[in-house]
Amino acid sequence: MQSFGVDLDSTITHMNRHILIAGGGIAGMAAGYAVARAGWQATVFERAAEFSQVGAGVQLGPNVTRILQAWGLGDAFTQLAAFPPSLHARSLTTGEVLATLPLKDFAKRYGAPYATLHRADLHGLLMQAATRQGVQVQSNAAVKRVSQSLDAAMFEVTQQGQLLQHTATVAVAADGVWSPLRQQLLGDGLPNFTGHIAYRALLAQADLPPYLRSHDVSVWMGVHAHVVSYPVRGGEYLNVVCLAEGRLLDDDANHLQALQTWNAQKSEAQTLAELQHALRGACTPLIDLMAACSHWRLWPLCFRPAMQGAHQHAQGRVALLGDAAHPMLPYLAQGAGMAIEDAAELGAQLWTAPAANAPEHLQQFANARWQRNARVQARAKRNGRIFHVTGALGIGRDLGLRLMGAPLMDVPWLYGHSKS
Ligand SMILES: Cc1cc2nc3c(=O)[nH]c(=O)nc-3n(C[C@H](O)[C@H](O)[C@H](O)COP(=O)(O)OP(=O)(O)OC[C@H]3O[C@@H](n4cnc5c(N)ncnc54)[C@H](O)[C@@H]3O)c2cc1C
Repeated sequence: MQSFGVDLDSTITHMNRHILIAGGGIAGMAAGYAVARAGWQATVFERAAEFSQVGAGVQLGPNVTRILQAWGLGDAFTQLAAFPPSLHARSLTTGEVLATLPLKDFAKRYGAPYATLHRADLHGLLMQAATRQGVQVQSNAAVKRVSQSLDAAMFEVTQQGQLLQHTATVAVAADGVWSPLRQQLLGDGLPNFTGHIAYRALLAQADLPPYLRSHDVSVWMGVHAHVVSYPVRGGEYLNVVCLAEGRLLDDDANHLQALQTWNAQKSEAQTLAELQHALRGACTPLIDLMAACSHWRLWPLCFRPAMQGAHQHAQGRVALLGDAAHPMLPYLAQGAGMAIEDAAELGAQLWTAPAANAPEHLQQFANARWQRNARVQARAKRNGRIFHVTGALGIGRDLGLRLMGAPLMDVPWLYGHSKS
């Protein structure tokens, strides 16, 4: 077939309840699995040649583990995750525990546990489940263009040096925070760099002196910076992330390539100098913990304003999911969580949908999701401000935590959400 001004080898797949998904990250794999369970045939296109161990830890609240359980993945998940008994808010300078949220009773209170795990383990679990359910996963396949007609959605995909066209009932853009497909669908430009960088490292707990080992989540709050640590891989490793206001590269403002990666690196010396600056005045145990880390990886944090309407989640036969629709600052630990909630809602909406009515069901998906995602985006942004406040506001924050404790840290509207 000749189209789009290029040689086009047309691959028209059968049109009965078939969905094309751009991006094989957490959102894409979860969506593939959810719609395959709902009886749809799904094809996931991933730009990368292989699925590497990208990222580090993720925390998943009961709003998300509840979905994994409902999907029949609870046992496999339990093998991979850690289940921290407590979440401590600490002072970065003194190490004092300001307040503790008990997590071990979450299963009773919210019907599902609070868990922490390596992103690669979560991704592997979803990918295995998806492929077992019949989802086709094609790597080295970059989606270049999305388009739609009255009765079909189309992707142009670069695969094996060719530009192929794929056609199906509906399509999903789950191509991450820098989503090229979002630019085509919404035309609202690129996300912004926050000026915050996440420096992350993974430590084998066995290599740490006993006083630095931990099975809890700790958030150490300082001035313009905070550190989060929690166990992953069943507790064998400790995930350590320092989130600091800083610069990526000397010419970082225009250095889009450097921003668009999960795995940026600077020289060890430069990273250490930046961390020392960000964490000046930190208490000794935290300094010791940071000193035990090596092989730091950097994530520049990017954001968009909170979602403003359902049109940002679905346009006709095309839906946007995960970071492509609603990039999340990590200060509420819900980016992967909202991607999985999106996928669960999409699966639920498409469960009974005949192919002919798919756009209506995508609209219902969008209506059901956008306000919750907007609320989580806003809360994550607010948390970032609270974690980094200075002066009298910082003193007030610490006092509030000491006096109010757990109720200030719990988020019932978030964790109690029950869609599967
Ligand atoms: C420091 C930090 C800590 C975090 N901690 C947590 C946490 O504790 N809990 C939590 O829930 N979330 C957390 N997150 C957020 C979470 O990691 C992301 O929200 C989540 O990974 C988004 O998934 P996604 O699939 O939408 O995007 P991604 O994981 O970015 O996946 C997008 C995929 O699309 C592919 N792609 C891109 N363009 C194309 C194309 N044109 N064609 C085909 N494929 C394409 C990419 O290669 C990639 O594989 C954290 C994030 C950061 C930065």
